[in-house]
Amino acid sequence: MIINADLHIHSRYSGATSDKMNIKTISLEAPRKGINVMATGDCLHSSWIKEIKTCNVIDDGTFEMNGTRFILSTEIEDQRRVHHLLYFPSFSAVEEFKDRIKSKSKNLETDGRPNVNLGGEEIASLAKDVEALIGPAHAFTPWTAMYAYHSSLKDCYGDLADYISFVELGLSADSDYADTIEELHRLTFLTNSDCHSPHPVRLAREFNRFEVNDATFDEIKKAILRTGGNKPVLNIGLPPQEGKYNESACISCYTHYALEEAKRRRWKCHCGKRIKKGVRDRIKEMATFGEPQHPDHRPPYLHLIPMAEIITKAVGQHTPFTQTVSKRWNELVSTFGNEITVLIDTDINEIAKATAPAITEAILAFREKKVIIVPGGGGKYGTIELPKDGKTITVPVGPQDTQKSLFDY
Ligand SMILES: [Zn+2]
Ligand SMILES: [Zn+2]
Repeated sequence: MIINADLHIHSRYSGATSDKMNIKTISLEAPRKGINVMATGDCLHSSWIKEIKTCNVIDDGTFEMNGTRFILSTEIEDQRRVHHLLYFPSFSAVEEFKDRIKSKSKNLETDGRPNVNLGGEEIASLAKDVEALIGPAHAFTPWTAMYAYHSSLKDCYGDLADYISFVELGLSADSDYADTIEELHRLTFLTNSDCHSPHPVRLAREFNRFEVNDATFDEIKKAILRTGGNKPVLNIGLPPQEGKYNESACISCYTHYALEEAKRRRWKCHCGKRIKKGVRDRIKEMATFGEPQHPDHRPPYLHLIPMAEIITKAVGQHTPFTQTVSKRWNELVSTFGNEITVLIDTDINEIAKATAPAITEAILAFREKKVIIVPGGGGKYGTIELPKDGKTITVPVGPQDTQKSLFDY
């Protein structure tokens, strides 16, 4: 069977999260997006564990509420501020891991995403002892990520580098970016939302499609390890160019620079302010290859933005948090069952019968890769241009990840 899974979120016990991030709301919102399995996030936090335990038990590592399956996961920050993602086979594995890091963390019971005074290798070793999967979270972001502080998997995880089975690409990278780095070729790429709110523009804004025999931890583990015929079949995520640090650009006047030019100028803009190195250029510096070389097992990567944002652009609104957008979103989701079905799987002629022509055209433009993205940089989001009547219209775009919009839901 094919399942859609979002394997990185945060509960209301993490910093800057919506208080709507409770198990019940997540379990009700996931099916509307078309997501079958969610990772719980924050599973080292006692209050969150209590809440997870209100779900029905499917097996040791799989839980269910309102038809949504959950597997146990957490993100932790190591002593060098690198973020790691972990997936646990059972509550007893979680408890054992917790016992062993307890003395190394000051905020285990107060923050859903705790800091641990251990290095990557030590954390990976403890994960291995309890048979948890581990890999770097949002590996390419300029802060709190593996490649921000380490030059390689080996540098981060030492002798445990071989135990790492996946890398989370993060919102600012895709398979083309990551597959220019040879050491990542053997790893499974995960695309997750890392959301702090259950609103449909946040939840599953990135997700994975897996081929499995059942929606359980064991089956997803096999898919990540690519054994027994299980595997990832599609990564879905935002176009990386949309990110506000995609290209190298001035933090004041937003002039974009090619890497060589920025270096020649010693990262100083013509206006006198600083040029901030973009994710694209950071990856270029670490790249083994000039062009991406995809290994045979790598699934396709589909660039999508949340349907509420596509509707926002199509109907000319400025934010997805309006009644018009939510009315149009609900109309499509109630007709076809869920958002992912509309965006990826439904015949475009059927969509045309259910919604406004501008929205149908916008969905088609994404499917046919006809949207034009003007890259972001220097702290300014990229823009997406939708083709319209032969002309293009430009609409500002961005995940709008401000404190305020997190709580708009
Ligand atoms: Zn993180
Ligand atoms: Zn400037």
